[in-house]
Amino acid sequence: MSLIIDQFAKKRNFSYALTMKLPKIELHEHLDGSLRIATIVELAQEAGVRLPTDDPKILAQILSPGPSSLENYLRAFSVTGSVMQSAKALSRTAFETVEDWYLDGIVYGEVRFAPEQHTLGGLSVEEVVEAVLRGLEEGRRAYPVQTGLILCSMRHNTPNLIAAKLVHRYCKDGVVGYDIAGEEAPFPPSLHKEAFDYCADNFLAATCHAGEVTGPDYIREALLACRSLRIGHGTQLIQEWGSPPLPPGQQSLTGWILEHQTPLELCLSSNLQTKACPDLLSHPFEAFRQHGLAVTLCTDNRLVSATSLSQELELARQTWGLTDKDILELQKTALKAAFCPNETKTWIRTKYFSGNADID
Ligand SMILES: [Zn+2]
Repeated sequence: MSLIIDQFAKKRNFSYALTMKLPKIELHEHLDGSLRIATIVELAQEAGVRLPTDDPKILAQILSPGPSSLENYLRAFSVTGSVMQSAKALSRTAFETVEDWYLDGIVYGEVRFAPEQHTLGGLSVEEVVEAVLRGLEEGRRAYPVQTGLILCSMRHNTPNLIAAKLVHRYCKDGVVGYDIAGEEAPFPPSLHKEAFDYCADNFLAATCHAGEVTGPDYIREALLACRSLRIGHGTQLIQEWGSPPLPPGQQSLTGWILEHQTPLELCLSSNLQTKACPDLLSHPFEAFRQHGLAVTLCTDNRLVSATSLSQELELARQTWGLTDKDILELQKTALKAAFCPNETKTWIRTKYFSGNADID
């Protein structure tokens, strides 16, 4: 693994190269937010889709906007979604996700998307899921990377059980969990309670985007009403803390999250872009970490946030002085929180995170 990673890292600074080499766990990445620009251009040509521009550099600027709002941020997804309407395109983007993970030193990754967004070309939702699973499988055959697939409902759609039932149907084929995605504020988690209930009733894992730009109430709903096992973002839990930031006592949402070590899937660059947080130093990641919450760092959208997992970890290293040991601890937390089977976790832990780990 190290040869290729070294080639990719040689233009970066030394600590970045080290971060890329560390074995990493990705828990929160959107398939349709992580395409390569060159792939979008090719897929658009193949499908006869008209892009906002054919210039790859300008397209990258359009699809990765500067700090704005979550609503603006989500506009890029209409472009990526427009070229992901065939089985071939879906398999290719899934395969390339695994390839990009490998190049970034990721040894286990969970990628998520909403099947219902990819039926405009005539595919059934089952065909959509199977195409993505095929791409992930091809990726696993080509690279030493383990994968899990999370299926989402779109928050703004009329609540339904389509994605949750697909999780059930394909849970033995690499689908590991359920989530809700899209614009957050007008659509609280409890709107989709029936789908979350379906998952819980069938012992299917769920995570839930909550507290990205909305307050702790959405996190409370995700955990207590929807029985989500992890929280996507959870950044705004900090609203429950005072100044200077100290966690409130036991009978609080933070107390519950701390007591139960509920994993938070934090995404630094994405939060800056959506103005969930005004600047990096104000991001609650380090306060959460220092007070023992089960924090993980994740990419969210490799294309739309113009980042990678190594880059997110490097941001944390340079902002708060995290050491290699701290970064490895974050990976162990993420692995514990992963939705893959325990035997996969044990295999990864032994290979990459034990005392004799092969991390090269
Ligand atoms: Zn997300």
